[in-house]
Amino acid sequence: MEEKRFDLRTAQEADAQKKYILTEEEKKSSRFGKLVFEFPQERNEIVAQGDPEDYVVKPQAYFRGAMQIPGSQFNQSYQIFVKPFFLDRIQHRHKTDEFLVFLGASFPNVFDFDAKIEFTLGKGEEAETYVITKPTIIRIPAGEYHCPLHFKEVNKPVLFLATLFTPMFGGIYDLPDGKTMEMYYNGPVQCKYDANKKCNACGKCLQEDWHNT
Ligand SMILES: [Zn+2]
Repeated sequence: MEEKRFDLRTAQEADAQKKYILTEEEKKSSRFGKLVFEFPQERNEIVAQGDPEDYVVKPQAYFRGAMQIPGSQFNQSYQIFVKPFFLDRIQHRHKTDEFLVFLGASFPNVFDFDAKIEFTLGKGEEAETYVITKPTIIRIPAGEYHCPLHFKEVNKPVLFLATLFTPMFGGIYDLPDGKTMEMYYNGPVQCKYDANKKCNACGKCLQEDWHNT
């Protein structure tokens, strides 16, 4: 029997009926436009006490998840750190896995890495701190306590990506009284439904479906 195979070397570009440019108007008249999203430029607004404001290159790109592409089950940050910075001080958990990526940002070689970053996985007696000095990816399983995350030495720029498999960024925090608190944060972006309002992570836009709204 003759084996039919798809030859990637001779495959032709698919000919779409229509080409779209990413304006809001064009998106409305397209079928798949809601799945294609242009990154807005963001500037970090939160700096912890004692840290330099210019620890990270501005602007930064973030994928804010379902508010930007309806139905998305993940969100991701793309930041380049250029100075030591204590990014995340408080232990927390998530309902899904989270992945942290550390790569060199002296492009184009992502292995050109010169930084020392400390990251803790686990809680209490189980806790282990890992010292990252090379390009690294870390999986944080759902429900596992983690942090602090401290960029202690940054001798060359570091590309940091945090990926969380939830429609919006957030976490579960233990309170001193033994209770827990879920906190969500969607960045300094405006509300999807009210341009005069800042996003307060109400979650309404997470209910949207990409193909019928
Ligand atoms: Zn986390």
